[in-house]
Amino acid sequence: MESRFGKYGGQYVPEIVMPALKETETAYNEAKDDREFQNEFKFYLKNYAGRPTLLYEAKKLTEHYGAGRIFLKREDLLHTGAHKINNALGQALLAKRMGKTRIVAETGAGQHGVASATVAALFGMDCIVFMGVEDMRRQALNVFRMELLGAKVQGVESGTGTLKDATSEAIRYWATNIEDTYYLIGSCVGPHPYPTMVRDFQSCIGREIRAQCIKDYGRLPTHVVACVGGGSNAIGTFYEFLEDKRVKMIGVEAGGKNSFENAKTLSGRGRPGVLHGAYSYLLQTPEGQVIEAYSVSAGLDYPGVGPEHSFFKDEKIAFYDSVSDEEALEAFKFLSKTEGIVPALESAHAIAYLEKLMPQTKESDMIVVCLSGRGDKDVSHVAEILKNSGR
Ligand SMILES: *Cc1c(COP(=O)(O)O)cnc(C)c1O
Repeated sequence: MESRFGKYGGQYVPEIVMPALKETETAYNEAKDDREFQNEFKFYLKNYAGRPTLLYEAKKLTEHYGAGRIFLKREDLLHTGAHKINNALGQALLAKRMGKTRIVAETGAGQHGVASATVAALFGMDCIVFMGVEDMRRQALNVFRMELLGAKVQGVESGTGTLKDATSEAIRYWATNIEDTYYLIGSCVGPHPYPTMVRDFQSCIGREIRAQCIKDYGRLPTHVVACVGGGSNAIGTFYEFLEDKRVKMIGVEAGGKNSFENAKTLSGRGRPGVLHGAYSYLLQTPEGQVIEAYSVSAGLDYPGVGPEHSFFKDEKIAFYDSVSDEEALEAFKFLSKTEGIVPALESAHAIAYLEKLMPQTKESDMIVVCLSGRGDKDVSHVAEILKNSGR
C-alpha cells in the first residue's frame, strides 16, 4: 500500500511505535480485501449506524439562492449524530479482527471520544480515552457520556491540557500496551496507514451520493462541498468523484475570527511540515513551532489537515476556501429556520459557503453539501454566543 500522497503522508513516528503501526498496516491490507470483513462492516453501517443516509433536496435553500439545486447528504441522521461513527465502526472491527481487547483514543471536544466509546461498548471492548483536563472542564457532558458508555476518561494535565497533549499520551499508552491495545484515530490524519484507512471507511458517503444522484436524478452532481477539520467527512465525500473531472470538490475550513485566529490550514497561512506522524500542511511559525488553531466549532479547531488533502490542494484536484465564525453562525440559524434542520457548527461552515458558491452556479447545476452532523451538541454554546453578542 502506498504510504504517501505525492510527497505528503508517511510515518514520522518514534521507533517504538513502528511495530504497532506495521501490525495495523498488515491487518488493514488483509481486511480490505476480505469479503467477510467488508460484509460485517456493511452490516453495522446499515443496521447499527443507519446507512444509507438520505440525500435530501433542500428546496427552500435552492429557492433562496435562485440558482443551482441544493442537496444535503444527511450524515446528521446517523446514530450518535455525525459521520464519525462510520470510521469508528470500521476501525473497531479491525481491532476485533486483530484480537485486540482495548481501544485507546484521544479526544478534544469529545465527539471522537464518544464515537470510540460507543463502538467499544458495542463490541465488548475496554476503552480508554485521553483528554486534556481543560477540555474535560469545557466538555463535561461528553465526559459523562463516555463514562456512561463504559469508557475510562483519562485526564491529561501536561502542556495546555488540550488535544495535542492528549494525543501524545494516547500514543505513549499505545506504544507500551501494543499486545492488547488498538489506537483509534478519529480523522484522516496521523501516520500511514491511518489517512488511507479512515478515507476508505468514510468513502461510503460519496459512494452513496453518486448512487443516489444517478438513481433519483439520472446524473452526477456538479459540485460537492464539505467542511474540513482533519478532513475525514470531506475526503469521504470527494473520494468517489476523483475520476470525474467535471465534479468540482470544495473543502471549507474554519476562518475563525480574523487572519490570526483561525484554522485555515490549506486556505490560509499553513505550510508543509510534520504533525502527528505525517507530512502535511499545518499552521506553524517560521521556526516550525505549531500554532494553535482557533474556531467557534471545536471539530474544525485543528492546526493540521489530512495529507491527502494537501496533495489535492497542490494538484488542484480539490479547491479549499474558508468561512468565518460569524458566517457559520448565520448559516447555523439560517438552515434551522429555512429547512428545519439544525446543523452541527462544523457542518454550518459548509452551508455558509453557499453564499459564495451559489451566485457562480446556474439552474442546471446540482450542488451536494455534506451535512456532517447534527447541531444538538452546539445549541447551548450558540445560545451563549448570541446572548453575549446581543443578537
Ligand atoms: C469531527 C467533526 C468534523 C470534523 O472532522 P473531519 O475529519 O474534518 O470530518 C466535522 N463535522 C462534525 C459534525 C464533526 O463531529
